[in-house]
Amino acid sequence: MTENDAMLNLWSATTPPSIQAPPLEGDATADVAVIGGGFTGLSAALHLALEGADIRLIEARSFGHGGSGRNVGLVNAGLWTPPAEIETMLGAEAGTRLNDALAVGPDLVFSLIERFHIACEATRNGTLHLAHSARGFGDLRNRHRQQIQRGAPVTLLGRAQTAERTGSEAFHGALHDARAGTIQPLAYVHGLARAAADSGARLHTHTPALGWSRDAGGWRIETPAGSLRAKRLIHATNAYDTVLPQARAFTPVFYLQFATSPVPEAQRGRLLPRGEGCWDTATVMSSFRFDRTGRLVIGGVGNPAGWRSSTHRHWARRKVRSIYPALADLDLEFGWRGRIAMTDDHLPRIVALGEDGISIFGYSGRGIGPGTVFGKCAAQWAMTGAPESFPLPLSRTRSDIMAPVKAACYDLGSLAAHLVGARLGGS
Ligand SMILES: Cc1cc2nc3c(=O)[nH]c(=O)nc-3n(C[C@H](O)[C@H](O)[C@H](O)COP(=O)(O)OP(=O)(O)OC[C@H]3O[C@@H](n4cnc5c(N)ncnc54)[C@H](O)[C@@H]3O)c2cc1C
Repeated sequence: MTENDAMLNLWSATTPPSIQAPPLEGDATADVAVIGGGFTGLSAALHLALEGADIRLIEARSFGHGGSGRNVGLVNAGLWTPPAEIETMLGAEAGTRLNDALAVGPDLVFSLIERFHIACEATRNGTLHLAHSARGFGDLRNRHRQQIQRGAPVTLLGRAQTAERTGSEAFHGALHDARAGTIQPLAYVHGLARAAADSGARLHTHTPALGWSRDAGGWRIETPAGSLRAKRLIHATNAYDTVLPQARAFTPVFYLQFATSPVPEAQRGRLLPRGEGCWDTATVMSSFRFDRTGRLVIGGVGNPAGWRSSTHRHWARRKVRSIYPALADLDLEFGWRGRIAMTDDHLPRIVALGEDGISIFGYSGRGIGPGTVFGKCAAQWAMTGAPESFPLPLSRTRSDIMAPVKAACYDLGSLAAHLVGARLGGS
């Protein structure tokens, strides 16, 4: 399994060819330059183009090369951190503002899908946060209470209801969030790119920014075959940046996924009949969902590179068996991994790069809704220059000197969890 082998990523294999976005050649200008073609950069490009702005986006590889084309596809509301904790961290007013802005993240995502006719397997029947243990159910109770206090349409399901909803006996209960849903993430990315281009954005793939600087004329971004000058700069490369020394501003955490061969129609009936996406309460988290063709997509924290690959693959097999014993013999036909930008407090960062420049990153594993929302906010910021466009204050980039150590802990911790599960015959 390699990070770049598109053949092994289910989403790459099932996404139709993209729009033409030729590399940038020569010296170009724009009012706004966007670096990075994932949810954040493309949402910014689309919303800027809709406002009639002169905008160019450059992407180092292809659209969705980063986390946006590798993720599970759970379009969840809010951040991973429960809302009350966010209000404690930021203060009541700022916390509420962020919570409110991201509670409607799925509304924005699904409305763009509808408005621009993006074919991305969109299913809005909610997601299920599953209790892997009695203690996990306690965590869900707490989340349920907090969300109900904020008027969210969430339902706590007991063991029997969860078994009926998932078709699995493996869980102690679940929290259903009706605001959420699932998408094929890479197809959503390509849909955003098409909508942005149709609205007037000029997009360039295979155009890495090699560096950037600012002078009296604004920003100048160097690329392999030219340069881009712009008044404002939006930098949206998250965990996949090839230039900025952001490595210590967040911990890069790997998340792996496998997809089985399609589950035969006769076996599908009771398995997630409403098509929710699922993730669990375990410390070493895992997730599962079905795609349009009935493949079970199963994922977990872990880096399956090199010698570690077989441990994680065995874990995935056991995980399938523990959730759906009848599917234990299905082949794992796809396997891929992606990098999550995890900040120390699990909150995203908006960092001023200098005058008229911002960098947005650190979604900590919850980026479909937040990336789309922050991209829209970035567009407003670029039109007005007002930092209040964001529901989160601009932050100084706080370097986390422990990031490399934490990254190693995540890798080794998930490896140990997946290995110990093997020894005990569990998951
Ligand atoms: C395996 C995995 C599973 C996940 N599951 C979920 C989920 O189910 N739900 C959810 O909400 N979130 C999920 N996330 C998180 C989510 O995918 C990310 O937060 C989100 O994709 C970040 O989007 P982005 O546009 O900010 O960055 P990215 O999608 O990473 O895009 C950054 C882009 O910048 C480009 N780039 C880098 N350097 C340069 C340069 N120098 N010049 C030009 N371009 C450059 C990269 O090639 C890349 O395409 C998951 C993440 C991973 C990795």
